[in-house]
Amino acid sequence: MNKVINWQKASHWRLTIQWLFFGWSLFLGIQFWLFVRHFETMGRAGYYSRPPGVEGFLPIGSLVSLKTWLLTGYFDTVHPAALVLFLTFLAMALLTKKSFCSFICPVGTLSEASWKLGRKLFGRNFRIWRSLDLFLQFIKYALLFFFANLILVGMPTVALKEFLSAPYWAIADVKMLHFFTSMSTTSMVVIVALSLLSVVYKNFWCRYLCPYGALLGLLSMFSPFKVSRFQDKCIDCGACSRVCPAQIDVQHKQKIHSPECTGCLTCVSNCPEKGALSMALWKRPVPGVAFVVIVMLLFTGGVLTGMLTDHWQTSLTYDNYRQLIPMAARFGH
Ligand code: SF4
Ligand code: SF4
Repeated sequence: MNKVINWQKASHWRLTIQWLFFGWSLFLGIQFWLFVRHFETMGRAGYYSRPPGVEGFLPIGSLVSLKTWLLTGYFDTVHPAALVLFLTFLAMALLTKKSFCSFICPVGTLSEASWKLGRKLFGRNFRIWRSLDLFLQFIKYALLFFFANLILVGMPTVALKEFLSAPYWAIADVKMLHFFTSMSTTSMVVIVALSLLSVVYKNFWCRYLCPYGALLGLLSMFSPFKVSRFQDKCIDCGACSRVCPAQIDVQHKQKIHSPECTGCLTCVSNCPEKGALSMALWKRPVPGVAFVVIVMLLFTGGVLTGMLTDHWQTSLTYDNYRQLIPMAARFGH
C-alpha cells in the first residue's frame, strides 16, 4: 500500500506532453497566420480554416465572457473557445494545482527551457535577494487585481455586452497575432530582456509578472492534490528543495500549500527515498502517472465538452472576416 511508482517516468511524461503542446501551439499559430493572410491579401493567398484553439491566448476577454455568462447566461458566440479553454484551465487549477503552467502553457515551456539553458551555461541558476523576491512576486497579484477590478467590479452588464459585440473583440485574436508578427521595438526590447532574465533566474515571467498564473495559483490552493512529504521515510537530503523550480522549501514542509507549486513533479522524481515524497490526493499518495493522466483527462474533457455542446466554433462568417481583418489596425491599439 502507499507505493509510489515510477515517478521518474511521470516527470518525463510531463516534459513530453509540455513539448507536444508547445508544438501544437506553434502549429495553431501558423495555421491562424495563414488564415489571416488570406484576408490581408484580399484572397490572393490560399484559404486555411481558422483554428479556434488560438482563443486560448485571450484570457482578459475570457474574463469578460465569464462574467457575462455568469450574470446573464449568455455564452459568447464570437470567441466561445476562449471561454471554454478559460473554464477548463480554471477547473484544472482547482483540481490539479497549476498544472496548466507545467503541462500546457507555451510560455511556461519556454521559461523552463530558458532556465535549464542558464543552468548549463553558468552551472546554476541565480536567486534574487529574498526581500526583493517577495516584493517582485507581489507584482503579478497587483496585475491580477487590476484586471479583476476593471472587469469584475468596474464593468456593468451593458458594458460587458458592448465589449463582446464590438469589432475589437471580433478580431482580438488577429490583434494578438499582429503583436507577434509586427512587433514594436519596445515590445521586442521587453521580450528580449525577459528572455535573458529567464535564462538567469528560474521562471522570471511566471514567478513575478504573469497575472494568469497568479489567478491559477490562488485557485490551486483549493486543490485536493498536494505534494506531500512523509517524515518517517524522509532522509533529509534536501534534493527536493534544491530542484524545485518554484523555490519552495519542500524538505521542511509536510504538505505544499504554496500558490507557486505547479504540480510539475520535479521534486518527487528527484527524491531518492521511495515513499518519502509524492503527489497525494488528500493524504493518499497517487502514482505520478495517474496524476499526469488526470491532468490530461481534465484538459481533453473540457475541450470535448465545449465542442460537443457547440461552444467551440465562432459565429463570425467568412464575410465578417473579409470586412474586419483588412481594417484591423483601426480597432483598439
Ligand atoms: S513543490 Fe514539487 S511539484 Fe511543486 S513546483 Fe516545486 S518541484 Fe514542482
Ligand atoms: S528529496 Fe525526499 S528524502 Fe530528500 S529531503 Fe526531500 S522528501 Fe526527504
